[in-house]
Amino acid sequence: MAHIDAGKTTTSERLLFYSGVIARLGEVDDGAAVMDWMEQEQERGISITAAATSLFWRDHHVNLIDTPGHVDFTIEVERCLRVLDGGITVFSAVEGVESQSETVWRQADRYRVPRLAFINKCDRAGADPDAVMVEMRTRLRAVPIALQLPMGLGEEFHGVIDLVTMTARTWDDASFGARFTDAAIAPELMPDAELARELMLEALAEVDDDFMAQYLAEDDIGEDDIRAALRRATLALAAVPVLMGSALRNKGIHNLLDAVIDYLPAPAETPAPAETPAPGEASVSGDAPLRALAFKVASAGGNAAVRHAQSLTYVRVYAGEMRRGDTVLVINAHSDKGTRQRIGRIWQMHANARRECEALSAGQIGAVLGLRAVTTGDTLCDPAAPVVLERLFVPEPVISVAIEPRSEDDAERLQEALDVLALEDPTFRVGRARDSMQTVIEGMGELHLEILVDRIHREFGIDAKAGRPQVSYRETLRQSAHANKLLERRLPSGLGQYARVELALAPLARGAGNRFRIADSVPSELPAEYLAAIESSVAEGLMRGGTMAGFALVDLEVTVRQAGHHPVDSSAQAFKVAAAMAFAEALRHAGSLVLEPVMSVEVLAPEEFVGEIMGDLVARRGKITGIQSRSSVQVIACLVPLAAMFGYATDLRSRTKGRATFTMQFMNYAEVPSGIGNEIAASLPRA
Ligand code: GDP
Ligand code: MG
Repeated sequence: MAHIDAGKTTTSERLLFYSGVIARLGEVDDGAAVMDWMEQEQERGISITAAATSLFWRDHHVNLIDTPGHVDFTIEVERCLRVLDGGITVFSAVEGVESQSETVWRQADRYRVPRLAFINKCDRAGADPDAVMVEMRTRLRAVPIALQLPMGLGEEFHGVIDLVTMTARTWDDASFGARFTDAAIAPELMPDAELARELMLEALAEVDDDFMAQYLAEDDIGEDDIRAALRRATLALAAVPVLMGSALRNKGIHNLLDAVIDYLPAPAETPAPAETPAPGEASVSGDAPLRALAFKVASAGGNAAVRHAQSLTYVRVYAGEMRRGDTVLVINAHSDKGTRQRIGRIWQMHANARRECEALSAGQIGAVLGLRAVTTGDTLCDPAAPVVLERLFVPEPVISVAIEPRSEDDAERLQEALDVLALEDPTFRVGRARDSMQTVIEGMGELHLEILVDRIHREFGIDAKAGRPQVSYRETLRQSAHANKLLERRLPSGLGQYARVELALAPLARGAGNRFRIADSVPSELPAEYLAAIESSVAEGLMRGGTMAGFALVDLEVTVRQAGHHPVDSSAQAFKVAAAMAFAEALRHAGSLVLEPVMSVEVLAPEEFVGEIMGDLVARRGKITGIQSRSSVQVIACLVPLAAMFGYATDLRSRTKGRATFTMQFMNYAEVPSGIGNEIAASLPRA
């Protein structure tokens, strides 16, 4: 995991090459990396999907996922961190801790993933591993412990001194680094190496009490003692072992693989994710029952019939075993509803190639064929021991475009393609514009939507036209309110329509999402189908949107306080109508306000442009949150509404003659200042 361009894919490619999975190195720059297998990835030289693969090293089976660094594909990182037990964070020795590295670091913190750091690009001019370690301390609040000392930097970089074994390792260029030599440390480097080793031991003693005791007693500290202490500190998230090298120059990768085995956890050492019992009968004894998480769904594109047979569900098994032909319970991540399904063929993945196997056991990652309607985040478990595993954190999409097929005949197929892509990617949503029948798609950024439209074209063969990107606004409640509605009608036919529904609406914290609750005061004899009718009516109300401009409502709790039915005259339809009326009235009392996505923006620019850039950001309603100098540039951190950031790339380029760069990622939804909120509302056609 890392910021874009730090060298994740290049490093992954080496990990596969040296462990014997691939026979030849493919370079990102030639569009030939095995890990970047989608056409769009090879064309653009970036990793979009997280390619999963596995390798063997020192008799261990290692699963490897190369995550994308671009913020638009943040969900890919999120799902990887959710299922991986350990991570390698790749930093560039020149650029240091960049904004997206900080983001992935926080994501890894969220799932308590133990980490190694690999300081890559030591061969580049300006490489400074010490400065990267300082940034790790200040920006990430990490405790880095360097296990190596580089021999030379920039053009001079030719190997590393291993501070645990106190040997010097150099790689042989002719074999693309496959062969290496371990030799005695040159006498002129010895003083530096001894000092670096002392710093390593001291840092380790500070985070591990047992090691501190050994260190103070000045016992003869052996290699195994150091490795054991490093392992304890890494697993406890108390420290991060740091390795160095240059993936492109084929240096330092063997040590990195050794460190994965030495310091990152085995599946049994990783706490299982939180789980809650699901409704059903628990009747398992003996072997641990199956618990697995579907963390990715990949469709094969093409027509529907082929697709069902070919769509792959990537799973991580936490406990028990998943065998071909087993019946499992698949619990939907959104509705908690379970369906029994049979496991078809099982594969272990190697980027886009796959190898069939009979079963996946605890700790393994693989892909299964034949599951239907599985979405990202679903739990797969033993039907006799149903549980729901902790879900993925899914951010709200922030940008939307209208999309339509160039030919009328494609309308239905387009809808189908969009539905398939939405199953794969929970940050991609499909909806309708409020004022027309136009289809609107929402995502995490312009690049995200651009790639999706491109995939619709290539994988589904549908030519679709996308409109201009628009900000995705939302609405939320101003205050709590409730309403009680009684529907009591006698139709001319003599049939009655009876339903009574009381709903309470309450605002929740920003980012909390929507919650639907049924109060204890609701009589237990009320038929479940009526409650389901109320729930679906509320869901429609939330989509229909707020009172300001009809944007979808977020961050509120809807409670059914009371509901009453008549033994003869009630129907699901009557409950739907009564609930819709109660929802609309409560919403009118509560009132709503418009929310807009706010981005965290970081601009890197030479000193001379700082004043002008800041002035411009403030004019865009930006709030400057910090300025820092990093080697030769100033880093301006700022929060800016997305609405004010369209066209910023071009604008910044012309303002600074191309000497500044920026990154931007979603921060949160915040209230639009009242004047602007009314303006937005007024500029929109009413639904
Ligand atoms: P990712 O976005 O993190 O996957 O980064 P890539 O692996 O695609 O690499 C981004 C760019 O950096 C490519 O042009 C690589 O050739 C280059 N690169 C990767 N590792 C090194 C390295 O160790 N040294 C140098 N000089 N360039 C590297
Ligand atoms: Mg990559």
